[in-house]
Amino acid sequence: MEYQRPSASAQPEAAPGASAGALMIDVRGLCKVFGERQVLHDIDFSVKRGECVAVIGPSGSGKSTLIRCLNYLETPTSGTIWIDGKELHGQLSPAELSEVRRELGMVFYNFNLFPHMSVLANITLAPVQVRRASRAQAEQTARELLEKVGLKDKADAYPSQLSGGQKQRVAIARALAMNPKALLFDEPTSALDPELVGEVLKVMRGLAEEGRTMVVVTHEMGFARSVADRVVFLDQGRIVEQGDPEEVFRLSPRGRSWPACAPAIWPAWPPRSTTSSTHLYLAHRQCRRDFSRRGAEKVGQP
Ligand code: ADP
Ligand code: MG
Repeated sequence: MEYQRPSASAQPEAAPGASAGALMIDVRGLCKVFGERQVLHDIDFSVKRGECVAVIGPSGSGKSTLIRCLNYLETPTSGTIWIDGKELHGQLSPAELSEVRRELGMVFYNFNLFPHMSVLANITLAPVQVRRASRAQAEQTARELLEKVGLKDKADAYPSQLSGGQKQRVAIARALAMNPKALLFDEPTSALDPELVGEVLKVMRGLAEEGRTMVVVTHEMGFARSVADRVVFLDQGRIVEQGDPEEVFRLSPRGRSWPACAPAIWPAWPPRSTTSSTHLYLAHRQCRRDFSRRGAEKVGQP
């Protein structure tokens, strides 16, 4: 990994990563192969500084793999990633791995808190060990972050004493404690009881509103629609649609006309569950296929 922002002189004008000033994350030509199976196909993906991007798509489409490649929890098979202008390519050394993970905070669906450590210890561990913060400073920051996520009185609790929503809010505080350049969320509310989803989304909405750079893999269509600046639709390892949430979720994305069958097969909006968002997308795809086939018939093509 070269920890150099590609310089204007070394790169052609529109070179990948060259607009690093505006882009916090820039991914070009990302491919990921597991064994015989290619899971990501030549993905180009970028996130501007301060942007909140929702990544949606059917189960198995490669959403987790995409964000895990960003912080090298999975090593990309090919492609280049720039994080704040720093280039990551191929195998990274342990020091480089540690640096990229420090800069990108990850929040997992299953919280990944250390069960034998208190909330405070979970949050201060990395700042003290990795960022070399003093314990006093790390604890003060941790308490401020706990207040921010509405858990001021839980510093001394253990994860087993918390609800899922509380655990996830601790996990968010833990990610924030490293002062990362961007936060990556992998279905942060998918393991929660429905009544606990709202408290976590509220914290995430607050982070987006204060201008944090975020990539959120989610099936919460309401969140994607009302909080994200951009929605990216992944299907079978490819980005098949992206843009302004209102545009992507409208019946006629990007102003394209839709066939008359669209309203009939398009379920009620907004979808409330994974299944309906998947159905919605499959309907969307089918509509497009029908439309392009009919379009082709009209102009006399096979
Ligand atoms: P999503 O998050 O969209 O549900 P994933 O990124 O988890 O999708 O997975 C995409 C595909 O890659 C799936 O078919 C999954 O089985 C496969 N996959 C994910 N991780 C691994 C792995 N470590 N080894 C082999 N196959 C994997
Ligand atoms: Mg996933």
